[in-house]
Amino acid sequence: MTAPNPEKLQEIKDRLVERKKRLWLEVKEQLKSNIGAGYQEMLSAARDEEDQAVVSLLAETHLALLGPKRQELEAIEEALLRLENGSYGLCEECGQPIEWRRLEIMPETPLCRNCMSYREKIAKAGTR
Ligand SMILES: [Zn+2]
Repeated sequence: MTAPNPEKLQEIKDRLVERKKRLWLEVKEQLKSNIGAGYQEMLSAARDEEDQAVVSLLAETHLALLGPKRQELEAIEEALLRLENGSYGLCEECGQPIEWRRLEIMPETPLCRNCMSYREKIAKAGTR
């Protein structure tokens, strides 16, 4: 297995950043249409010094409602971090290089195929 070259990594990074932008737009739209009124109300009721706390609380609460999109955003954030610190492409679980073909399909994945299927098995057992 050959190490990904810098151009490939840059391409992956661009794709992740693009995806992240799109997801945030979708998330914002979803917030607006689902809980827009309550959001505005809480914000206008907040006093200045509490604003920031209220905003982050709202973001936290509402992002929790966004489920899969939030998970994907987090996965993308982490992948971008790994690109920054040079650990991108290594499996978070076993430390082995993740197949390049797999990264091209799912650039945000932190796991190799084996570890992913293992984790999915556990997740399925756990959510029942
Ligand atoms: Zn692994």
